[in-house]
Amino acid sequence: MSDCIFCKIAKGEVNTRLLYRDDKVVAFNDTNPQAPTHILVIPIDHYDSVKEMDDELLIGRLFTVAKEVAGKVGLKHYRLVINTGIGAGQSVFHTHLHVLGGRLMSWPPG
Ligand code: 5GP
Ligand code: ZN
Repeated sequence: MSDCIFCKIAKGEVNTRLLYRDDKVVAFNDTNPQAPTHILVIPIDHYDSVKEMDDELLIGRLFTVAKEVAGKVGLKHYRLVINTGIGAGQSVFHTHLHVLGGRLMSWPPG
Protein backbone atom coordinates (compact mmCIF):
# COMPACT_ATOMS: atom_id res chain seq x y z
CA MET A 1 0.00 0.00 0.00
CA SER A 2 1.51 3.29 -1.10
CA ASP A 3 0.46 5.33 1.94
CA CYS A 4 1.43 2.73 4.54
CA ILE A 5 4.44 3.72 6.66
CA PHE A 6 5.40 0.11 7.39
CA CYS A 7 5.31 -0.78 3.66
CA LYS A 8 7.69 2.16 3.12
CA ILE A 9 10.01 0.94 5.87
CA ALA A 10 9.90 -2.64 4.52
CA LYS A 11 10.80 -1.40 1.03
CA GLY A 12 13.60 0.85 2.29
CA GLU A 13 11.77 4.01 1.20
CA VAL A 14 12.24 5.71 4.58
CA ASN A 15 15.44 5.86 6.57
CA THR A 16 15.03 3.20 9.26
CA ARG A 17 17.83 0.98 10.58
CA LEU A 18 16.75 -2.61 10.16
CA LEU A 19 17.72 -5.07 12.90
CA TYR A 20 16.76 -8.00 10.69
CA ARG A 21 15.76 -8.55 7.08
CA ASP A 22 14.99 -11.55 4.90
CA ASP A 23 12.82 -11.97 1.82
CA LYS A 24 9.59 -12.07 3.88
CA VAL A 25 10.15 -10.23 7.17
CA VAL A 26 11.93 -7.17 8.57
CA ALA A 27 12.47 -5.95 12.15
CA PHE A 28 13.29 -2.48 13.44
CA ASN A 29 13.05 -0.39 16.61
CA ASP A 30 9.77 1.28 17.53
CA THR A 31 10.00 5.09 17.39
CA ASN A 32 7.95 5.45 20.58
CA PRO A 33 9.33 2.66 22.78
CA GLN A 34 7.15 1.36 25.61
CA ALA A 35 10.04 -0.56 27.18
CA PRO A 36 13.85 -0.29 27.13
CA THR A 37 13.76 -2.70 24.17
CA HIS A 38 10.81 -2.33 21.82
CA ILE A 39 11.19 -3.94 18.42
CA LEU A 40 8.61 -4.38 15.68
CA VAL A 41 8.63 -7.45 13.44
CA ILE A 42 6.57 -7.12 10.26
CA PRO A 43 5.87 -9.04 7.06
CA ILE A 44 7.19 -7.22 3.99
CA ASP A 45 3.87 -7.82 2.24
CA HIS A 46 0.98 -5.68 3.43
CA TYR A 47 -1.78 -7.16 5.58
CA ASP A 48 -4.02 -4.74 7.49
CA SER A 49 -3.94 -7.02 10.51
CA VAL A 50 -3.28 -10.61 11.46
CA LYS A 51 -6.96 -11.28 10.66
CA GLU A 52 -6.16 -10.93 6.95
CA MET A 53 -3.25 -13.40 7.11
CA ASP A 54 -3.74 -17.04 6.24
CA ASP A 55 -0.17 -18.03 5.35
CA GLU A 56 0.76 -20.15 8.34
CA LEU A 57 4.42 -20.24 7.34
CA LEU A 58 4.56 -16.45 7.29
CA ILE A 59 2.70 -16.15 10.60
CA GLY A 60 5.14 -18.62 12.10
CA ARG A 61 8.09 -16.77 10.55
CA LEU A 62 7.08 -13.57 12.40
CA PHE A 63 7.34 -15.42 15.70
CA THR A 64 10.58 -17.16 14.76
CA VAL A 65 12.17 -13.84 13.80
CA ALA A 66 10.83 -12.20 16.98
CA LYS A 67 12.43 -14.95 19.05
CA GLU A 68 15.72 -14.70 17.17
CA VAL A 69 15.90 -10.91 17.38
CA ALA A 70 15.03 -10.98 21.09
CA GLY A 71 17.89 -13.42 21.63
CA LYS A 72 20.24 -11.33 19.49
CA VAL A 73 19.66 -8.22 21.59
CA GLY A 74 20.11 -10.21 24.79
CA LEU A 75 16.54 -10.39 26.09
CA LYS A 76 15.91 -13.30 28.43
CA HIS A 77 12.36 -12.25 29.30
CA TYR A 78 10.10 -10.49 26.87
CA ARG A 79 6.53 -10.02 25.77
CA LEU A 80 5.25 -10.57 22.23
CA VAL A 81 2.13 -8.56 21.38
CA ILE A 82 -0.01 -8.24 18.28
CA ASN A 83 -2.68 -5.57 18.74
CA THR A 84 -5.51 -6.42 16.36
CA GLY A 85 -8.18 -3.77 15.67
CA ILE A 86 -8.68 -0.27 17.06
CA GLY A 87 -10.31 -1.58 20.25
CA ALA A 88 -7.18 -3.60 21.01
CA GLY A 89 -4.88 -0.62 20.48
CA GLN A 90 -3.82 -1.15 16.87
CA SER A 91 -2.79 2.17 15.35
CA VAL A 92 -0.77 1.10 12.30
CA PHE A 93 -2.77 -1.12 9.97
CA HIS A 94 0.07 -3.26 8.65
CA THR A 95 0.50 -6.41 10.74
CA HIS A 96 3.30 -6.10 13.26
CA LEU A 97 4.49 -8.07 16.23
CA HIS A 98 5.82 -6.06 19.19
CA VAL A 99 8.82 -7.45 21.06
CA LEU A 100 8.94 -5.70 24.45
CA GLY A 101 11.59 -6.28 27.07
CA GLY A 102 14.09 -4.85 29.49
CA ARG A 103 11.67 -4.08 32.30
CA LEU A 104 9.24 -5.93 34.53
CA MET A 105 5.84 -6.41 32.89
CA SER A 106 2.52 -6.40 34.70
CA TRP A 107 -0.57 -8.41 33.88
CA PRO A 108 -3.24 -7.87 32.69
CA PRO A 109 -2.11 -5.38 30.04
CA GLY A 110 -4.05 -2.11 29.83
P1 5GP B 1 0.10 -0.53 17.28
O1 5GP B 1 -0.43 0.57 18.15
O2 5GP B 1 -0.55 -0.48 15.91
O3 5GP B 1 0.03 -1.90 17.90
O4 5GP B 1 1.64 -0.26 17.12
C1 5GP B 1 2.16 0.62 16.18
C2 5GP B 1 3.54 0.97 16.63
O5 5GP B 1 4.24 1.55 15.55
C3 5GP B 1 3.58 1.98 17.77
O6 5GP B 1 4.27 1.41 18.87
C4 5GP B 1 4.31 3.18 17.18
O7 5GP B 1 5.16 3.81 18.11
C5 5GP B 1 5.07 2.56 16.03
N1 5GP B 1 5.31 3.45 14.91
C6 5GP B 1 4.41 4.25 14.30
N2 5GP B 1 4.98 4.89 13.27
C7 5GP B 1 6.27 4.47 13.21
C8 5GP B 1 7.35 4.77 12.34
O8 5GP B 1 7.25 5.57 11.40
N3 5GP B 1 8.53 4.14 12.57
C9 5GP B 1 8.67 3.24 13.59
N4 5GP B 1 9.88 2.68 13.73
N5 5GP B 1 7.66 2.94 14.44
C10 5GP B 1 6.48 3.54 14.25
ZN1 ZN C 1 1.74 -1.78 4.67
